[in-house]
Amino acid sequence: MKMLINGEWVERDKKIEVRNPFDNSLVDTVPEGTVGDVEAAMESAAIGAKIAKEMPVHQRTTILKKAAAYVEQRFEDFARTIASEGSKTIREARKEVGRCINTMTVSAEEAKRIVGETIPFDSVEGSENRFGFYYRFPIGVISAITPFNDPLNLVAHKLGPALAGGNAVVLKPATVTPLSALKLGEALTASGLPPHVLNIVTGYGNVIGDALVTDARVRMISFTGGLEAGLEITKKAGLKKIGMELGSNTPVIVMDDADMDQAVELCVSGSFWAVGQNCIGVQRLLVHEKIYDTFVEQFVARTSRMKTGYQLDEGTDMGPMITEKEAIRIEEWVDEAVSAGAKVLTGHKRDGAVYLPTVLADVPEGAKVDVEEVFAPVVNLYKISSLEDGLERANSVNFGLHAGVFTKNIDTAFKAIKGFDVGGVIINDSSDYRLDLMPFGGVKGSGLGREGIKFSLMEMTEPKVVCFNL
Ligand code: NAP
Repeated sequence: MKMLINGEWVERDKKIEVRNPFDNSLVDTVPEGTVGDVEAAMESAAIGAKIAKEMPVHQRTTILKKAAAYVEQRFEDFARTIASEGSKTIREARKEVGRCINTMTVSAEEAKRIVGETIPFDSVEGSENRFGFYYRFPIGVISAITPFNDPLNLVAHKLGPALAGGNAVVLKPATVTPLSALKLGEALTASGLPPHVLNIVTGYGNVIGDALVTDARVRMISFTGGLEAGLEITKKAGLKKIGMELGSNTPVIVMDDADMDQAVELCVSGSFWAVGQNCIGVQRLLVHEKIYDTFVEQFVARTSRMKTGYQLDEGTDMGPMITEKEAIRIEEWVDEAVSAGAKVLTGHKRDGAVYLPTVLADVPEGAKVDVEEVFAPVVNLYKISSLEDGLERANSVNFGLHAGVFTKNIDTAFKAIKGFDVGGVIINDSSDYRLDLMPFGGVKGSGLGREGIKFSLMEMTEPKVVCFNL
C-alpha cells in the first residue's frame, strides 16, 4: 500500500515488509517514510488545519458517516487485513471492525454536540453589563501515533474525534501493522475528506518519531503505546497538549461469593483475548483463599482447551504473538519467574511466534511478570485473604488502567470501586471490557487524559471566551 502525504497516495523506493506473524508470509509492503516525509506531511497538515476548521459540522458528520459505511461495505476485507498483519484471530478481528464502525459513527454524532455555555458575568460587581459565552474551537494539527494491537479501532479513536472536532492529523501507525490504518485513510478520502486534512506517514518510530513530536506546528500529540515510548515522547514534546494512553498490569479480584462459572469463563477470555496483547487484559488474578483451589482447577482446565494456531482459521481461539522476538521475550520472563520459584500450571511452550496460553502460580514478588506489563498470554494466580488484601496487591504496581472484581455483594463492589487506583472498574466481568464511547484512560504509568469519543473531543478542542461589554 501507499502512504498519504500532501493529498496524494505516494510510494517510496525503500519499503517496509508487512508479514503475517504466524508463518512469516508477506502480506504487503508500505513505504519506509523519512524525516523529510514527516516534514512534508506537517506542511500539508498546516494547510489542512485551515481547511478543516472551515468545514461546517454537517460536512464533518457526513464524511465520518460515509467512512463508517465504507468500512461496513468492506467488513470482511478489513477483518482479514487485521488478522493477516497482526495477531488477532479472524473472529477477534471482526469484532474490532464492528467497533471501528461504531467509533466512526459516534464521532459523526458527537461532532454535533461540541457545545459551550453562557457565562454568568454578572456574578461579580462591576460586570453587570457584560454578557457572553464560550464555544469550542479546533486545536489545529494533531500528531497521532498508534500501536499494533488494535490496528484499526485505535486509529479510529484518533481520527474520528480529531476530524469531528475540525482538526488536521498526521498519523503514524505501528510499523508492524500499518495496513488497517491506511485502509481507514482510504475510507476517509473516498468519503470526501479534503486533501491535506489527513496525512499518514508509515515508518519506524525510532527514525521519524522525533520529527512527529517536536514539530512546532503540532498542537497536540495523541499517543497510544507503551510506557517507555510514552515517557520519551513527553520529554521531547515541548509546549503541546499530550494525550497518553499507555499500558497496564491489570488486576482482577475474584471474591468467595462470585459466580464461579462466570468468573472462570470471563477471566479466561480476558486473559487471552488478542493473545494477551491487550492494555486491559487480565495479568494478575487475585482469588479469595476459600475458593482458590476450585477456581485454579477450573481456570487451568478451561485455558488448556484453547485452540492456538493460524489466525485466519475460524476455529482458532488464539493466534501468534506479534513477532517471534516478542514470544522469546515473554518465554524468558517466565523462565526468570520459574527459576525464582513460580509454578507453570499450563502453557509456557513456544513454536516461533506462537506461545501457548500460560497460567502461573506462586510468582515471586518483584519478578518481571509480577510488576511489569507482560503484554502476552500469561496470567498469574495469587491467593488473597480478603478484599483489602486484594486491593493492596492490586494497587502495588506503577499502572492503573482497568480493574475487575467478581462478587455478588453490593458493599464489596462499592468498596472495590473506591479502593482500586485505576481509570475504570468493571464489576462481574474481567477488566477486559470497553465501550468505545465511555471515558477510557489510566492513572500512574498507564497514562494521562482520557479517550472515548466525547472525551477525546474535549482534549482535541479548546474553549474560546466571548464577552460583550453592553
Ligand atoms: P510502542 O512500542 O510504544 O509503539 C507504539 C507506537 O509508537 C508505534 O507506532 C511506534 O512506532 C511508535 N513509537 C515508538 N517509539 C517512539 C518514539 N520514540 N517516538 C515516537 N513514536 C514512537 O507500543 P506497541 O508495542 O506498538 O503497543 C503496545 C503498547 O501499547 C502496550 O504497552 C499497550 O498496553 C499499549 N496500549 C495502550 C492502550 C490504551 O488505550 N491505553 C491501547 C492499546 C495498547 P514503531 O511501530 O515504528 O516502533
